[in-house]
Amino acid sequence: MALEKNRSCRSRRSFLQVSAAAAAVAVGYRIVTEPMLAHAGSIPYPKDAVLINANENPLGPCGVACDAVNSVASQGGRYSDWMTGDLIKTFAAAEGLNPEYVRAFPGSSGPLHYSVLAFTSPAKSYVTADPGYEAGAHAAKASGARVVNVPLTKTYAHDVKAMLAAAPDAGMFYICTPNNPTGTLTSHADIEFLLANKPKDSILLVDEAYIHFSDASTALDLVKADKDLIVLRTFSKIYGMAGLRCGFGIARPDLLEKMTAFSGWSAMPITAVAAATASVKDPRLVPERKQINATIRETTFQWLSKNGYSFVPSQSNCFMLDAKRPAKDVIALMAAQKVFIGRPWPVWPTHVRVTVGTQSEMERFQEAFQHVMSGGAASTLRLAPDSSTIHLDGLVLPAIRG
Ligand code: PLP
Repeated sequence: MALEKNRSCRSRRSFLQVSAAAAAVAVGYRIVTEPMLAHAGSIPYPKDAVLINANENPLGPCGVACDAVNSVASQGGRYSDWMTGDLIKTFAAAEGLNPEYVRAFPGSSGPLHYSVLAFTSPAKSYVTADPGYEAGAHAAKASGARVVNVPLTKTYAHDVKAMLAAAPDAGMFYICTPNNPTGTLTSHADIEFLLANKPKDSILLVDEAYIHFSDASTALDLVKADKDLIVLRTFSKIYGMAGLRCGFGIARPDLLEKMTAFSGWSAMPITAVAAATASVKDPRLVPERKQINATIRETTFQWLSKNGYSFVPSQSNCFMLDAKRPAKDVIALMAAQKVFIGRPWPVWPTHVRVTVGTQSEMERFQEAFQHVMSGGAASTLRLAPDSSTIHLDGLVLPAIRG
């Protein structure tokens, strides 16, 4: 009898999941990623371009990761699933997690989208910060959910009280800390408050893509305590592996099961798995890169302050810079100098997002920004009618979304 009941619950649940997935396909569901949000066109960047528009890491994978890629490449004819198992065990041991609570994916964009599809619906809204990382809202639209945008607080944290008040029907609260685009933190206490006061059956999706750059404390302790949250991690940021593709969804197994109903079997590229395993085992990588990023970021902030420019102090590898004029114009004028900065957010139309590059890239950024702000502009600059390219003195450059 109990078995029968279980079976019928399961089949009802899989029916609901299949219909949600079918609805998503019907509205043209696709996984939206940072590069899709960052680039407007598909023409290549000039060779000497400064690319500080997509929160990539200019250092790329570390030395041991590159060695691991080289040595595993010849085995690329095999799926080698066991290597993913080893990566999960290595990461779980480093974080004191049960490996059953960890799933690997080619990057964290996938698990972000699958989680939103699993926990939002026309009756269960998706609640996020504004400005915040936009990818989840695209998935929420595909699942027919109401998207609730809640402004950040005066200190640029997620306003957890306002998020709760705005959505008694919430299915998911998305917390990105450090936040993309501001690089600002939401405290562990606020995350706990949200967990304690959220509607029953809703979950938190805590995106820790940028956590290694900051002094924030992780929410993994709350996963270990079996709370209603999924934590996302990626190797695309401090580990410099955006092009190799590796990330994790970390949660109670029952939450992971609901999420992976939308992903199916996510085959992992063995080059990414080998590089990620080697990176996790390298104890110097995170502290060294955190220091490098912080030094360049603070030097850039000093320069901006000295020159009277306003920005939001960040603990990440990106920050919001207030140009106090339409962001779109500044982005195009910077691109004309082959310095590609990030997109604006509609709620802050005069701010642009800038990724922290190498010291020499940030010097080119400073020079170009000073030139733009002092009124120097390309006289023949023209944006293509479809906004995909910038035309300047016979040069055709890719445009940044604005
Ligand atoms: N989450 C945040 C906040 C991001 O900014 C990004 C990418 O920039 C991702 C998730 C997904 O990154 P990836 O799919 O490369 O792991």
